[in-house]
Amino acid sequence: MNHRKFDGGRLVVASHNEGKVREIRDLLAPFGVETISASELGLDEPVEDGLTFKANAEIKALAAAKAANLPALADDSGLSVDALGGAPGIYSARWAGPSKDFQLAMGRVNEELAASNATTTEARAAHFVCALTLAWPDRHVETFEGKVKGHMTWPPRGTFGFGYDPTFVPHDHEITFGEMEPQAKHAMSHRARAFRLLINECFG
Ligand code: IMP
Repeated sequence: MNHRKFDGGRLVVASHNEGKVREIRDLLAPFGVETISASELGLDEPVEDGLTFKANAEIKALAAAKAANLPALADDSGLSVDALGGAPGIYSARWAGPSKDFQLAMGRVNEELAASNATTTEARAAHFVCALTLAWPDRHVETFEGKVKGHMTWPPRGTFGFGYDPTFVPHDHEITFGEMEPQAKHAMSHRARAFRLLINECFG
């Protein structure tokens, strides 16, 4: 499949999350891409009412590309637990409530797994997903998805990372993402995998 390439100039990072903007800037720096964030441009955040990670990444990237009249990059990510029918999924951030309490969110995942008698590693299978969209003002989009498989553990372990990291053990590992050095997580994460695809296809 032929993918449209980013052909230079400024790129909007369609996120109001400073950590995410910094991570994306660092990843694109070797390609000489000049980035500007949605907050720096004073853009409004669109309503994320898509039903998939891909739909939400496309909503965010298209809204920013249209408003700024520049190409824009957005991501949407979350945790999907098999025994919970893919929940919390696109609602991963919302399970932490208005105070962004991930102890609460991790606890809820664990309670729901216990209620469905999911005790073995296999029964507690889960994956993180990241959808990454590069959109242009003419509404063309290129979307790439990265996944990392593993299982949910309890109690939470480790202080690295964020979100559900202390309860997620990636496949073929014994430690959680919360216990893993950031470089090791960044080499194998859903976000890193989606970025690798995007960079190969659109920035190569
Ligand atoms: P987003 O910012 O709307 O894409 O929400 C992503 C949410 O998914 C975060 O708030 C976390 O709860 C969860 N999430 C996504 N990626 C990760 C990760 O790498 N580790 C832990 N939690 C993650």
